[in-house]
Order: sequence, then C-alpha cells, then structure tokens
Amino acid sequence: MGMKIITQIRQMQAESNKLRHQGKKIGFVPTMGALHEGHLSLIRQARLENDVVVMSIFVNPIQFGPEEDYQTYPRDFSRDEELAKDGGVEIIFYPAVEEMYPQELLTFVNVERLTDGLCGKFRPDHFRGVTTVVAKLFNIVKPHRTYFGQKDYQQAVVIKHMIEDLNFDIELVIVPIVRDSDGLALSSRNTYLSQKERASALVLSKSLQQAKELLDSGERHSKNVISRMNDLIKGEKLARVQYIEIVDSQTLEPVEIVEKEVLIALAVIIGKTRLIDNMVLKYN
Ligand code: AMP
Repeated sequence: MGMKIITQIRQMQAESNKLRHQGKKIGFVPTMGALHEGHLSLIRQARLENDVVVMSIFVNPIQFGPEEDYQTYPRDFSRDEELAKDGGVEIIFYPAVEEMYPQELLTFVNVERLTDGLCGKFRPDHFRGVTTVVAKLFNIVKPHRTYFGQKDYQQAVVIKHMIEDLNFDIELVIVPIVRDSDGLALSSRNTYLSQKERASALVLSKSLQQAKELLDSGERHSKNVISRMNDLIKGEKLARVQYIEIVDSQTLEPVEIVEKEVLIALAVIIGKTRLIDNMVLKYN
C-alpha cells in the first residue's frame, strides 16, 4: 500500500473511522514538517506500537507570536513526503490553514499554570495555540496513541494534562531527545544557524552536561547550578540566555534544592534563532 496524503478534515475522519472499524490501532505523530531524525524517531516508535502511523504536517499560525518566525518557518513538503514514506508513515495529514481555520476561531483550549513558566513566560499564547490545534487534530485523526518529543518537554507535560482533563481516550508516549553527534538537539530551526552560530549553539547541551556533572558530584542548590550554566553561556558571544530553570519534572514549579526528579530546561537565543534544550535527572 502506498502512502496517502490527505488534505481534507472530512476525508481524514472517514479514513480513521474505517481503520478503527477494522480494529486497527492508530499511532499519531503531529509535526510542523521540516522533518529530521527527531521526527523520524517518533515515527519509528509509533510504528512499533500501532498498526497504522498517521503524521500531520501543519505549521500552526496560532501558536506563533507576532514577532516570531511563522512566515519564515522552513517548509519543504516534497522532502518531508520522501522522508515520511521511507520512515513507514501510512498517512500524512496535510491541511491548509483555511481547512483548519475556516472561520474566526472562538474556541480555545487553555491549560493553566503549567503554561505560566519556562517557555510560556516568553511566548504568551504559544501553548494555547498548541493545545487548541492538538485538540482539533485529535478529533480529526482519532488516534489510539500519540507521540511527542522530550525536546519540547513542557509541551508534552501540557498535552498530557489536557488529555487527562478533557478525557481524550489517547495514550501519550514521550520519546527521548535525538541529538547530533556533537550534542546539539535536532530542531527544524537549526536550519537558520550559520556555521559560526551552529558552533555557538553547542553551549546549550554543554551547559546541561556541566549541570549534570555538578549534580553528580553532590551539588544540590539550583541557584549554584544555574549560575554555573549562565557563566558558561556568557562565554559565547553569539549566545544570549532567555531562561535557565530547574523545576519539578511533574509540576514544572521551580525547586531550590534538587531532590527527586527535576527538569533542567533552558532557552538561548543564538543570533536571531531561539533554541531550547533540557535534561531530566533524578537524585535522592
Ligand atoms: P515540531 O515539528 O518541531 O513541532 O516537532 C514535532 C514533534 O517532534 C514534537 O513532539 C517535538 O517534541 C518532536 N521533536 C522535535 N525535535 C526533536 C528531537 N530532537 N528529538 C525528539 N523529538 C523531537
């Protein structure tokens, strides 16, 4: 069977109804395209656990702020199509903006509190845009399982809470961060980086590695860990820290003393490109 490309919501819903009627398990991977190994790793995991893999490609306008990169976000559908096919995707759901938002949108899904800190502080309305489009996609694709990357850790926690709060009958699977061999977390936005910026961007993963070493050697004060990370990043002249936080991995509330499971997360602006990275660590 060849890969199907579906652009109409009605047709996607009909396809999913048919698959469900046949008893097939549907695994769903939402993306904004510009596919890389991170996306392919989600697809691989979905293939292992389901009968059919649906991937959506939709650059969602309502999750971008007015000063952000909606217009310039990398788009290359024919390349994505090839990668998806080789990765074993059965259906690409690829709607136009007018298909997803045919009238003024008056209904939004908003997950409170979990979206206040970390990226939410610097991207107001971003998570509202994400949860709203993901809720729509869940109603269109009707998956049994959905796959999100740990790369966007806060997003995954927010979606998990939305699934529980709104009783979506969907299992969320979180897939580990895929990195280049030098440590840089893969991101569609890495394509914005010049060669020099690409080299500077290594400070994100390096600072996380340094944080881990400090914690492994007994440091427990978040303040000290964050300050050492800041010092390292200050050494890169193309890099500017937006935030570095150490939070409880479940509640995303900042912790002063590192115990139990924490998330260390940061956003750094390299030139004009905003990059994020994180690490989850557990101590006693
Ligand atoms: P995006 O296309 O950037 O919206 O990402 C689509 C999905 O791929 C999200 O669940 C991301 O968390 C995930 N993803 C992006 N980059 C990576 C990565 N380097 N490793 C694992 N998952 C990723």
